Amino acid sequence: MTPQPNALELADLVMHFGPVRAVDGVSLTIPTGRVTALVGESGSGKSTVGRCVVRLEKPTAGTVRIAGTDVTGLTRRQLRRHRGDVSIVFQDPAGSLDPRMLVGEIVAEPLRLSGARLSRRDRATRVTEELGRVGLRAEVARRYPHELSGGQRQRVSIARALISEPKLLIADEPTSALDVSVQASVLNLLADLQRDIGFACLFITHDLSAVEYLADDIAVMYLGQLVEQGPRERIFARPAHPYTQALLAAAPVADPVRQRQRQPVLLGDDLPSALDPPSGCRFRTRCPLAFDRCATEVPAEVAFGGGMAACHLVQPDGTRPDVRAADPSEVLS
Ligand code: SF4
Repeated sequence: MTPQPNALELADLVMHFGPVRAVDGVSLTIPTGRVTALVGESGSGKSTVGRCVVRLEKPTAGTVRIAGTDVTGLTRRQLRRHRGDVSIVFQDPAGSLDPRMLVGEIVAEPLRLSGARLSRRDRATRVTEELGRVGLRAEVARRYPHELSGGQRQRVSIARALISEPKLLIADEPTSALDVSVQASVLNLLADLQRDIGFACLFITHDLSAVEYLADDIAVMYLGQLVEQGPRERIFARPAHPYTQALLAAAPVADPVRQRQRQPVLLGDDLPSALDPPSGCRFRTRCPLAFDRCATEVPAEVAFGGGMAACHLVQPDGTRPDVRAADPSEVLS
């Protein structure tokens, strides 16, 4: 049996908007059927990565490969053939659903755009099935988006994204515009659908506590670059990069034992500008462990345990000496 191609491969992806280096060399692989959470603060470039994958942005450099096909250089026309392979669910369902279209038309639209030859009746059946899968009744198809709640609208977005049976779903902060009370149910729905259908997913979020529902792997992004990657359990249990540690410390977790074990690490200042990122390690202006070398030398990626971390202090086994009380130059020499 030939092995299945990875659902997504990004190689050295770069997206500059004029002088703004929004994405600056991101390499990431999502195997078939797996979920990677792309985590970082707003302004880290994580949504731009998602927009490059679905070609809402044309990358400045690098390669995007979806289900084995290099789609980077394809024209819009050529891309249409691959449209069904990847779908996106946006943050704000109110903004992403056309208010003049009925829900049934919205959900069926990807089938129409893909050129699938279906009778009206077959298309309506598919829409009903898809609405049922996301927990909505068939009559919702005859409503307009404004007649629905925020949570229902996001379910409609998910139904539309999945009707073409994509190999890869980009979920860009899918719950952050929703009431806290419905966020968990939408995340649970996505997790259930992912398990049942088996699509791969790039789950973009600033909220590490949401990652626990859904992700197999985590990639942490800071100012346009990945600083750490690895299996979710390892990252939660032993974050190697100081930035990941700070993000985890800021995120509440359900498990009270683990919550108590957390050492708070304060991030301090705001994210620096992607117009003029700090020299050396981009995190150095906020890193509690920064030392001289961090200002002059870009940290190499240290590979370990199915992932990596880019920090001068991370050792080949993924550990980091506790240098808070010591002189870091001694540890490193
Ligand atoms: Fe902090 Fe230096 Fe590591 Fe960057 S390389 S995360 S500044 S210790």
